[in-house]
Amino acid sequence: MSPKLARFLDSGAFSTPALICDLDRVRDNFNALQAAFPRTSIYYAVKANPAAPILDTLTRLGSKFDAASIEEIRLCLAAGASPAEINFGNTVKKCSAILEAWHAGVNLFAFDSREELDKLAQLAPGARVYCRLAVSQSGAEWPLSRKFGTDPVDARTLLVEAADRGLVPYGLSFHVGSQQTGVGAYQEAIGIAAMVFTDLRCRGIDLTMLNIGGGFPVRYREDIPSMGDFGAAVTDALRQHFGNDWPQLMIEPGRALVGDAGVIVSEVVLACNRSTDGDRRWIYLDIGRFGGLAETEGEAIRYRISAPSIGGPDNNMVIAGPTCDGVDVLYREAATPLPERLASGDRVLIHDTGAYVTSYASQGFNGFNPPEEHYL
Ligand SMILES: *Cc1c(COP(=O)(O)O)cnc(C)c1O
Repeated sequence: MSPKLARFLDSGAFSTPALICDLDRVRDNFNALQAAFPRTSIYYAVKANPAAPILDTLTRLGSKFDAASIEEIRLCLAAGASPAEINFGNTVKKCSAILEAWHAGVNLFAFDSREELDKLAQLAPGARVYCRLAVSQSGAEWPLSRKFGTDPVDARTLLVEAADRGLVPYGLSFHVGSQQTGVGAYQEAIGIAAMVFTDLRCRGIDLTMLNIGGGFPVRYREDIPSMGDFGAAVTDALRQHFGNDWPQLMIEPGRALVGDAGVIVSEVVLACNRSTDGDRRWIYLDIGRFGGLAETEGEAIRYRISAPSIGGPDNNMVIAGPTCDGVDVLYREAATPLPERLASGDRVLIHDTGAYVTSYASQGFNGFNPPEEHYL
């Protein structure tokens, strides 16, 4: 943990649950990603954490933005981003949102269906559009299911139609799933995208851009490849499939920019043994699935939890949230060691919680408020 975060923790100037986030770390992550992906435009996936201090920090660093909704577009504009640097990356958009974005000057829109293309042709005539491909998400710990993307043949057809309808067929995108722990998924997807580029060139359409999405992982409990490994693998695949004629590259990192910048401080509400669960020790925290730790569903994202101020031997605990809902259990299968002495009123740290936590918190379920947020 950075000295800045440690000092703030010592100050006690907050109540729990609280997310405490180091903006220097966001800056360092941005610079590391840019170094690993030179000549690539970084579009921050706002949904990972839309807090104004994060958007301000990234705007000053020259980041661009990937927005999922008109509300996120407004947040980016309020942070000083230029509309030319905003990508409306959701392939499922309200008509009113397309209209407002287009009139605000946003000129990059994703689609993956003919119906969405119809909306764009009508509401944002002449806009730059790109088609999202469905690709393998194997290796991703938080996959995005079959909800998005289309196949290469359909993408080709739709991009030809886009041109016929006066839109600018600008490029292709894919997303290999979030917390993607392997480099192979990117390489395979680049190969598929390259075939569509070639096919379209034969039909007189020269695409400009390839958006390889987000998915870059955070080191939670297990080791992951470095950002440099991802950059090198992507470069290799581009050389192999595009030769010297590379498209403009775009990435949309969310988690990798903000995940390890934040830590949640939480109070133990109850620590007890459950005779109905083989006498295992249960730790109930004041934040759980509904307080923002939604990615613990299925124990998919396994945050590191520590209790640095409490000594003594560790034991594997079951970790649960404070609500009366039965699904509000964070970890039961994943071994989560915490001090045996841990008791009601003690504090624990849930590490690397800067991404996909505050934005997932429910409003007052069981009366509990979303976590406080402090950006330093
Ligand atoms: C969620 C999302 C991202 C960000 O994903 P991370 O895994 O946080 O990097 C990028 N692009 C699209 C289209 C997304 O849906």
